[in-house]
Amino acid sequence: MKSTGKVTGIVSNLVTVLTDGPVSQNEICYINCGGTRLMAEVIKVNGKNAAVQVFESTRGLKNGDTVEFEDKMLEATLGPGLLSSSYDGLQNNLTTMTGVFLKRGEYTEALDHRKLWDFTPIAKPGDKVIAADWLGEVKEGWLPHKIMVPFAFKGEFTVKSIVPAGQYNIDTVIAVLTDADGEDANVTMTQKWPVKIPIKGYREKPRPSRIMETGVRVIDTLNPIAEGGTGFIPGPFGCGKTVLQHAIAKQGDAEVIVMAACGERANEVVEIFTEFPELIDPHTGRHLMERTTIICNTSNMPVAAREASVYTAMTICEYYRAMGMKVLLLADSTSRWAQALREMSNRMEELPGADAFPVDLSAIISSFYARAGMVVLNNGKTGSVTFIGTVSPAGGNLKEPVTESTKKAARCFYALEQNRADKKRYPAVNPIDSYSKYLEYPEIEEYLSEKVAPGWVQMVEKTKNIIRKGREAQEQINILGDDGVPMTYHEQFWKSELVDFIILQQDAFDPVDSVTPMDRQEYMLKLVLDICDRSFEFEDFEQCRKFFNEMINLLKQMNYSEFKSENFNKYQEQLNNLINNGK
Ligand code: ADP
Ligand code: MG
Repeated sequence: MKSTGKVTGIVSNLVTVLTDGPVSQNEICYINCGGTRLMAEVIKVNGKNAAVQVFESTRGLKNGDTVEFEDKMLEATLGPGLLSSSYDGLQNNLTTMTGVFLKRGEYTEALDHRKLWDFTPIAKPGDKVIAADWLGEVKEGWLPHKIMVPFAFKGEFTVKSIVPAGQYNIDTVIAVLTDADGEDANVTMTQKWPVKIPIKGYREKPRPSRIMETGVRVIDTLNPIAEGGTGFIPGPFGCGKTVLQHAIAKQGDAEVIVMAACGERANEVVEIFTEFPELIDPHTGRHLMERTTIICNTSNMPVAAREASVYTAMTICEYYRAMGMKVLLLADSTSRWAQALREMSNRMEELPGADAFPVDLSAIISSFYARAGMVVLNNGKTGSVTFIGTVSPAGGNLKEPVTESTKKAARCFYALEQNRADKKRYPAVNPIDSYSKYLEYPEIEEYLSEKVAPGWVQMVEKTKNIIRKGREAQEQINILGDDGVPMTYHEQFWKSELVDFIILQQDAFDPVDSVTPMDRQEYMLKLVLDICDRSFEFEDFEQCRKFFNEMINLLKQMNYSEFKSENFNKYQEQLNNLINNGK
């Protein structure tokens, strides 16, 4: 039963409503505001009073305006056509519009209802199926998009009929399923799902056991992220969060990418719309956008819409994961999402937690990150959602609540450092503070030993030690002066510089250096470690500095040359000569 109500109070986007019947938490409603219907979500219920958060400006709204409750939560529309689309947090389709912003009270269709898709059946009459089982498939770009038994279907069904291969739009009934009581249900190519509830429809969710390659050395070599894993990139403004995320989007070993541009400044979002469609997918040579969905909300959109956007994005990811795909979700920045939570909780006059964020901020962030993961589907195939979010802590303070809460939830930490960005040491990932907890998983260690090189994790540890020792040596040199320390300190410092310049630093805008495949990462790390294993007898620190500078230059040239090309080999030879003569 749908309830109705009347507006009794308005504070910005927070509206109180006197209801005539039951309404539930997170239920969607529409408020009639002078001929416009404003969408809103119930965020608190107290007897006959409901507090609703309006997704748009409440300008002109007055007491007594009528409210219609929908008896359902905020839902995402799922079906073929999600890829290459751009949406706002409420899944209004921004690609079909002329400008980036909709007029107030205007909502668009998420999917094209006329477009015909080439459908091929997978199931046949008589098959027993449950929610999320695959009934058929259409080609979405070059990806096999599975048409599934709707996630909301409960219990076992028998396929009564299924249409033959052919062209159909998303509203065509492609299958009729019969439940245990003999009731028939129609299935089309589209379904809806409440965004705040994780899509289940899988058999189990084991711990991630494989690595997702990104081509970014500071990630893959030193702090790898697992397929189905979680990571976050905190960093002050201008330190390279967006550049790093775009590199991961472009190069990450995933089939589907969902970019949630969450509450960033309007000009940054416009950048995504102009940049992203231009990007070429290095895996296929086609436009990256063909396998990407963009969800965006700018910071001038109302808080509730901003809050919804990350959930809409995650729901789309889970939908593709249920098809057995590798999905990568990137959210930039989750701080704006947390700020939206804060604004809402403050207006509700809830008891605030640290920095006025909601008391349960940690729990909200954790349960969101927990939706990522690798799953085993009912048919035994696997699918995954890997999630990397950025955090923009005010003033670069990593002790603030959003960073701290995210640190508890995410397993990889890529801390961008102002100091490194100032020195143009990109990507400005701090090599000491950053980590990947996946390196501690025995199954990941085994995977790396098998796929990359035996004893790989120990090599990574050794590399991190070189950086740590380099920092210590540098501190001593700074205190005691170049001549005040033994030569070994200079050597230690320069060995860490070698690791820094050759492994850590990577030019995101160079066609060769920007993407480093794993076999090349292995080759370069071994080469660098081999140099670090040697001890050189320098007469003075000037000679040491000169020697390492020459070496860094040659190795840098190698990074900029095609792997094992003529140039690459030439620089390698020069390097060998230098090392042998310098000994
Ligand atoms: P943020 O999102 O943290 O505010 P951006 O990602 O927009 O920062 O990066 C700011 C600038 O830093 C970029 O425009 C670029 O000039 C430079 N930059 C960041 N990362 C790299 C990189 N890996 N290689 C080269 N330049 C980079
Ligand atoms: Mg940015």
